[in-house]
Order: sequence, then structure tokens, then C-alpha cells
Amino acid sequence: MSIARAVLLRASKSRFLADQVSHRSFVKRAVRRFMPGESPEEALDAALKLAAEGRGTVFTKLGENLSSLADAEAVRDHYLWFFDQVAARRVPGHVSIKPTQLGLDLSPDKCAEYCETLAQKAESTGTYFWIDMEDSSYVDRTLALYRGLRAKHEKVGICLQAYLRRTPADLESLIAISPTIRLVKGAYAEPADLAFPEKADTDRAFYELSVRMLEAAAQGKRFPILGTHDVPLLRRLIDKARDLSVPDGGYEIHMLYGIRDGDQRQLRDAGRNVRTLISYGASWFPWYMRRLAERPANVWFVMKSMVG
Ligand SMILES: Cc1cc2nc3c(=O)[nH]c(=O)nc-3n(C[C@H](O)[C@H](O)[C@H](O)COP(=O)(O)OP(=O)(O)OC[C@H]3O[C@@H](n4cnc5c(N)ncnc54)[C@H](O)[C@@H]3O)c2cc1C
Repeated sequence: MSIARAVLLRASKSRFLADQVSHRSFVKRAVRRFMPGESPEEALDAALKLAAEGRGTVFTKLGENLSSLADAEAVRDHYLWFFDQVAARRVPGHVSIKPTQLGLDLSPDKCAEYCETLAQKAESTGTYFWIDMEDSSYVDRTLALYRGLRAKHEKVGICLQAYLRRTPADLESLIAISPTIRLVKGAYAEPADLAFPEKADTDRAFYELSVRMLEAAAQGKRFPILGTHDVPLLRRLIDKARDLSVPDGGYEIHMLYGIRDGDQRQLRDAGRNVRTLISYGASWFPWYMRRLAERPANVWFVMKSMVG
């Protein structure tokens, strides 16, 4: 891992730094590159513009590691309201949550209960409920949460991270329950015994895991999601999907708002199903630092924002 990436990921955990910079207007200006605004209304408006181009959306309200179950209940209530907004405004949007935002650290049972309520709401409003994957200490608990939801619901998905050495085994065990999986490379600082320190190994793992998901899709086993901005890698996977006779509608490509936007549009125009993940909310600091860590050159945008 590069020094810049390590420093930025370490900074993402600093509450002191979050308090110091989150209110600064030049930082807020830089953040707008990755999110249309802090309010849910701004996220919904942006999604409608993407929908006009044929792109779907996944929404997520930023915030993680809460300190009380009352906070987690407020997040649940927010999402219940938000699902209604998505339906009322006819936005082709899914919702993705972080388990720690729904109290996983405080009470796994309560977290499962809140997720169950949200999965039911997703079903009744005709959309999808997604679970993000946080750092490696949460993987077992997050997989257990997903298995519980998948036993009762069709339209629930989970994120897996290609950089984790355990992921091939996790993928095989999930394929048995016909999951919907969004594969990503992985955004957290992890020790070398758990995750590949070299990016090339993560890229290779992403390809191999995606091929496995596409093979399963070719046998009718649900829907693979390729969550990456790595366009050369995506092109190889699109060719592989064709070789395996997976139809264009048999998988989706998910990317983040503001990243590789031209490629998102081109992929959509070429007939791929593309969804853009839109984040909103005031607690964007750790999430934003992870975006900077993915591409330390982004720090340049923050500097430029300092001078307007
Ligand atoms: C829809 C979606 C959901 C995600 N959910 C999770 C999750 O639940 N858990 C998790 O750990 N991670 C999640 N991630 C983040 C993911 O793990 C990676 O950190 C992130 O996607 C960067 O890796 P990459 O696959 O784009 O490939 P990379 O090889 O890192 O990047 C490929 C190219 O994309 C562009 N790019 C990538 N990142 C940036 C950036 N920040 N700014 C500007 N350009 C960039 C660059 O041009 C780069 O060369 C998610 C990502 C996506 C797209």
C-alpha cells in the first residue's frame, strides 16, 4: 500500500480531523465532486437526471459506527421515509446501508431487526436493499446478517471485497443461497495476512471472482454486480460474459457518483446496465477520505478548492 493511501486511510478514522475540516467551505466545495449535496432531496434530484440518461441509482446516507441504538433507530426511520420518497418520485433507485449505521456494534439482534424492517420496505416499494461491507472485523457478522435477510427476501444484496484473502470461500458459500453480490476491490486499511497488499493481486482477484459470479449467472444463479471504475478490467469481463452467454441484462456495473462519469455514460450507451451510487448526508468525512485514498491525486482537487 502506498504511503499516501495509508496516511489518508488513517486520517479517515480521526474524529479530531473530521471536526476540524468538515465545516470548512473549501473542503465542502471539493466534496461536491463526489456527492450532489448533503440533503436527500439533492440526491434524489441528481438521480432523476441520471435516470433520464438511462442510469439507475443506489443511494446511501453517510454515517458509520454510531454510539446509541436511538441513533440507529433514527437511521432506520430515515430510510423508511427515504424509500417512500424514491417510490413517490419514481426514481429507479436502490438503497444501500452500512450495518454499523444500523447498530451492528451495539446489538447484532437489533441491527438484524432494523435491516429486516428495511428489506420489507424495499420489497413493498418495489426496490432493492443492499448491505455494504465495512472493514474485515465486520465480515462474519455482515455475512450472517445477509444470510438471515436472504432467507426471507429476494431483493437483497451484499457487497464482497476482492482484496480479502477469504473472499473466494465466502463467495462459494454464498452462491449456494443464490445471492445478489456487488463485488468491489475494497476500501479499508487491512493487514497483509487478511488482504492483498499489492494492487495487482487485488485486480487479479477481482477478475477471477467476477468470472466465478458470471459462471454462476450463466447457470441462472442470480445477479452479479461489478462495482468498479476499472474500465479495462470491465471490458475484459464484458467479453467474458459474452463468451459465457450471460445476456447484457444478466449483470450490472455499479460506479460512484462523480467518478468516471463519461465511462458510465458510454457503458450505458453501449447497452450495459449501469447504476451510480449517490451518497448524501452530513457525516461524509471518513467516506470522503477513503475516496481520496483510492486516488491520492484527488488531494489536488482539495487544494484547488482552497483557492476557489
Ligand atoms: C458501487 C460501489 C460500491 C462500493 N461499496 C463498497 C463497500 O461496501 N465496501 C468497500 O470496502 N468498498 C466499497 N467500494 C469502494 C471500492 O472498494 C474501491 O475502493 C473503489 O471502487 C476504487 O476501486 P476501483 O475498483 O474503482 O479500482 P481502481 O483500480 O482503484 O481504480 C480504477 C480507476 O478508477 C478511477 N478511480 C477510482 N477511484 C477513484 C477516486 N476515488 N477518485 C477518482 N478516480 C477514481 C481512476 O481512474 C482509477 O484509475 C464501492 C465502490 C463502488 C463503485
